[in-house]
Amino acid sequence: MAQTHQKILSLPNRPFWYEESLERPALSGLVDADIAIVGAGYTGLWTAYYLLKRYPSLRVVILERQRVGFGASGRNGGWASAIFPISLSRVAQMYSHSAALSLQRAMNDTVDEIGRVLAEENIDADYVKSGFLSLARTKPQLERVAAAVESSTRFGLPEQWQAIGAADAADKVGADNVLGGLYTPHCALVHPGKLVRGLAHVVEKMGATIYEQSPVISIAQGHVQTANGAVQAETIVRATEAFTCQQQDQRRSVIPLYSLVLATEPLSAEQQRATRLEQRMAFNDMRHLRIYGQMTASGRLIFGGRGAPYHFGSRITDKDDLVDGVHTKIYDTLLELFPQLDELSITHRWGGALGVSRDWCPTVSFDPAKRIGWAGNYVGDGVATSNLAGRILSNLIFNHDEEINRLPLVNHHSPIWEPEPFRWLGINSGLFAAGLSDFEERLTNKPSRAAHLLEKLTGAH
Ligand SMILES: Cc1cc2nc3c(=O)[nH]c(=O)nc-3n(C[C@H](O)[C@H](O)[C@H](O)COP(=O)(O)OP(=O)(O)OC[C@H]3O[C@@H](n4cnc5c(N)ncnc54)[C@H](O)[C@@H]3O)c2cc1C
Repeated sequence: MAQTHQKILSLPNRPFWYEESLERPALSGLVDADIAIVGAGYTGLWTAYYLLKRYPSLRVVILERQRVGFGASGRNGGWASAIFPISLSRVAQMYSHSAALSLQRAMNDTVDEIGRVLAEENIDADYVKSGFLSLARTKPQLERVAAAVESSTRFGLPEQWQAIGAADAADKVGADNVLGGLYTPHCALVHPGKLVRGLAHVVEKMGATIYEQSPVISIAQGHVQTANGAVQAETIVRATEAFTCQQQDQRRSVIPLYSLVLATEPLSAEQQRATRLEQRMAFNDMRHLRIYGQMTASGRLIFGGRGAPYHFGSRITDKDDLVDGVHTKIYDTLLELFPQLDELSITHRWGGALGVSRDWCPTVSFDPAKRIGWAGNYVGDGVATSNLAGRILSNLIFNHDEEINRLPLVNHHSPIWEPEPFRWLGINSGLFAAGLSDFEERLTNKPSRAAHLLEKLTGAH
């Protein structure tokens, strides 16, 4: 094991999804456009896509600081899931019961909408909709399965989650010590890199211009300033997710939380059969500190998790993508689930920042007076939500009325985060408590009280 740890730690910082591609030019000089979008991740690209689909003659300019998919969109775990970061009961408390139900239905539809567009536009992003299974591997986790199904049924969504028995669960994902599982069909897997690059090519074909290596320095009504140029546009969209905290007037609106990932070499056909991973289902187990897994179309296991520290002052640097202690812990967790894969080599390791608002609720907002829109704060659930956000933003920008414009995340305003050092203390204590809760449950075999308190405080689930 120690030798494998050493090998993992010698790997460079490189997402498995990354691919060298043609570089696009940087912006220089002044350009006129109808819409300027800051950020070439899913949010920016889906917004451009839906705008151009409806109004093909729009002049859309996308400004990207690094390259297409540099952010979380090129690094994530590839679950396009209908999971919303806060519980539906929390949404109902903030808005209404029926608003929460509409939100869940819209999230479910979004998983299919992504599949529909990929097929229509011939984007090969290895999309497969096999659902998501959260395994219960301890008694407290099994209790949480029953509680989740009961609360979702009581809420009015009896079909959203199903409790499945040990044999059925192990037949879907053949991990060790499976006692049961919580299954939903509303989840697809994608290759995040193929998705973001494919989307970029499609919007370019539709007429958008993407500038790379063009960091935006300031956004004001009608004007976006980059290091070497500027765009004058009637409407501006800020699609910078976790990086939003680097903008002068947004320092406390969102914090960057890191999630770290490993990729294995391809599993043999025999290993895929034995672990049941050949079915390509999104999976994790019901521990508190979130982990996630997917099997790629090429037979590699992608396995990631939270637990990396929050950095003082919301720092985001390339160096922070790698945390040795967390990457080795993720590897140990992978082997805890699949001890039979201990001979498998790890070929890639990486990490990335995701955006979290103070109440853990995503937002899609538009200020009609300034004509500036923004969307983000998806926590770790932005692959599907960013598609929904793109559709809503394109509606709000041109006043196109649709049911989704009334969803609870539309024009949602979260409170701002505390100043430092309270922010650093609070977030890192929360992360520590989540890890500790899992340890406590393993030790006592009883549901952790600390975790219960944490869920109450954040509303996250
Ligand atoms: C490791 C990891 C795993 C994840 N796993 C999942 C998952 O399995 N399922 C899921 O649903 N979600 C997951 N997420 C979250 C999901 O990836 C994100 O919510 C989603 O990709 C956000 O897309 P975005 O376009 O809003 O932001 P991003 O993809 O972060 O794009 C923002 C872009 O803006 C650019 N930018 C920033 N500042 C500027 C500036 N000043 N000027 C110009 N450009 C700028 C950045 O370079 C970046 O390319 C994960 C995230 C991470 C990090």
